[in-house]
Amino acid sequence: MIADPAWKSALLHKGQDVADLLEAVLSGKDVDLASLPVPSGPGQDPELRLRNFLDQIDRAIKTFDTDAYGRCQLCGADLDRGALQQQPWLATCPVHAGRWIS
Ligand SMILES: [Zn+2]
Repeated sequence: MIADPAWKSALLHKGQDVADLLEAVLSGKDVDLASLPVPSGPGQDPELRLRNFLDQIDRAIKTFDTDAYGRCQLCGADLDRGALQQQPWLATCPVHAGRWIS
């Protein structure tokens, strides 16, 4: 996977957005989490969802220049380039979508 350098700035921006949302949640505000990945279980609280997503974004940034980037964390399959274009923080293939590794 040759990552598009534009994805890295998308990752950094998204990380900032999610960090801001987390701060809002921690200060007791209602936030819209529609832009977050689907939770891995029902009733998962917003703070945990935001922290998980931040971790996922961080991991993508850290692995960005390595072979690990653009591969499913569970099975190692190459991720779809079009999907990464939309969501450069993607960490799993469609088969394993919605499963978190923590
Ligand atoms: Zn997979």
